[in-house]
Amino acid sequence: MSDIRFDGRVAIVTGAGGGLGRCHALELARRGAKVVINDLGGSLDGNGGNSEAAEAVVKEIEALGGEAIANGSSVSDEAGVKKMIGDTMDKWGRIDIIIANAGILRDKSFAKMTQQDIDLVIDVHLRGSFMPIHEAWNIMKEQEYGRIVVTTSSTGLYGNFGQANYGAAKLGVVGMMNTLKIEGAKNNIKINAVCPIAATRMTEGLMSEEALAALKPEYVTPGVMNLVKDDAPSGMILSAGAGAFSMARIVETEGVFVGHGDDLSAEAVAAKWDQITDVSTTRPAFKSGGEHGQNIFAAVAKGMQG
Ligand code: NAD
Repeated sequence: MSDIRFDGRVAIVTGAGGGLGRCHALELARRGAKVVINDLGGSLDGNGGNSEAAEAVVKEIEALGGEAIANGSSVSDEAGVKKMIGDTMDKWGRIDIIIANAGILRDKSFAKMTQQDIDLVIDVHLRGSFMPIHEAWNIMKEQEYGRIVVTTSSTGLYGNFGQANYGAAKLGVVGMMNTLKIEGAKNNIKINAVCPIAATRMTEGLMSEEALAALKPEYVTPGVMNLVKDDAPSGMILSAGAGAFSMARIVETEGVFVGHGDDLSAEAVAAKWDQITDVSTTRPAFKSGGEHGQNIFAAVAKGMQG
């Protein structure tokens, strides 16, 4: 097994003042990267903020003999993000890795959720992933090198009571990834998603002490290092928690041609429902929307022949 190293690489980790982001940043630094520690330092619901959390992680990295700088901008503040990218380029002249990890929660049942609860969560998770990646995109293209991780959640992939705002934002970053893996490919930019589970302030009180003890954020980070290494995959969703890792995929059944013209009606679709939803025909995930379209036409061709 060869060592995974990041010597000479410059990484930005958002929300790196605590929890998972701090662990990712420390591990990148241990493995040779220079790291920008971004953290607004606010409360779990996104209020307040100061740069103390980011500065404390910079000190930890320096104590290990690594190099880091603190950045206290909000990931959803355009001017702050532009400054963070500018400061990184002024200091180190390149940006190789971005781990978009910053996040907040505003959990409420959908009936009680306010527009502000929706806007704030989408702002931090979705726009807050878009903005740093977008600002660094042309830099990565010119370098012909970029490794990006977005942070999704089982709530986005599968759902969770009281988290409609969070789930929408978390699947949103997967949608962004799916297109960026295509747009970045020719310039050696790879982008993946991590779906973590870890004991942090986000999950405290939600699980038993025993479960939380098994869910150290340090047990997620080794998976993330594999998503930003030189020979990283692209477009992958890696689930990671408690030292276990798996791959999540969006899959579709084979598809059934129902008919055209008079043969096609709501009732005709209902008559084929069992076949349409037959999971035993599930195929490997598509690599692009184009491939998905080809699948539809393959089902039509097969149905017309049959
Ligand atoms: P955490 O609260 O410890 O870390 C989130 C960090 O983001 C905090 O340090 C916070 O100050 C920072 N932050 C919040 N808003 C910010 C903003 N606007 N700009 C910059 N920084 C900001 O929680 P965590 O569990 O370490 O979460 C990290 C990421 O992992 C989040 O995106 C979260 O949604 C995701 N996640 C966590 C779990 C889990 O089990 N802990 C599960 C699924 C997804």
